[in-house]
Amino acid sequence: MSLVVTHHPSPNFNARKGPVTTLVLHYTGMKTGEAAIERLCDAAAGVSAHYVVNEDGTILQLVAETQRAWHAGAGQWRGEADMNSASIGVEIVNGGHDFGLPAYPHAQIDAVIALCQDIIGRHAIAPTHVIGHSDMAPDRKADPGEHFPWAKLAEEDIGLWPREDAPLADAADPVSTLREMGYDVDGIELDAVLAAFQRRFRPTQVDGRLDTQTQTRLSQVLHACRDHR
Ligand SMILES: [Zn+2]
Repeated sequence: MSLVVTHHPSPNFNARKGPVTTLVLHYTGMKTGEAAIERLCDAAAGVSAHYVVNEDGTILQLVAETQRAWHAGAGQWRGEADMNSASIGVEIVNGGHDFGLPAYPHAQIDAVIALCQDIIGRHAIAPTHVIGHSDMAPDRKADPGEHFPWAKLAEEDIGLWPREDAPLADAADPVSTLREMGYDVDGIELDAVLAAFQRRFRPTQVDGRLDTQTQTRLSQVLHACRDHR
């Protein structure tokens, strides 16, 4: 699909302090898209994102990609702590956990795919650097949530997804495996990091417990991660 982006400027940005390496996907987590967009453009709120994708698939650009939008907040990925400087932020309109965790409509996901492919292509963002907000802030954030179709995005070359038949990587302890993937295991409790991992890679059960299936999934994802280096 062709990409149609409507400009809808937000005052909430400043200068980047480094190059773009990462794409961070969010849900808005508010009752309506209109309320979310209003907040993302409110100087008093002090938050923003580069893009907002509405439920009908229309896309707004709030901040130029050359600028540092304020979507990530505290947290890190692969040791990078200034995630706003290092990333492009995309907000996807969805009520999230506070509003019943609605499914993402097909038209919206098609638009997210087209937008992400465009961003990834222009900035040469690696699959290991396409993440959810919950991946970089497992103790604070749960978005884009366990209904977000990461597997479908991966079919379109967006982000990492393990092959079910992948040979298992050498059994490593979960802490070093999660660290190698990019999670902050040194600053955050392990159960919170495991829950973030599950939310993304084993979304049917998000409980932060290291069960057998989660252990297998860790190994498969680590294998996929090493394939992409
Ligand atoms: Zn978020």
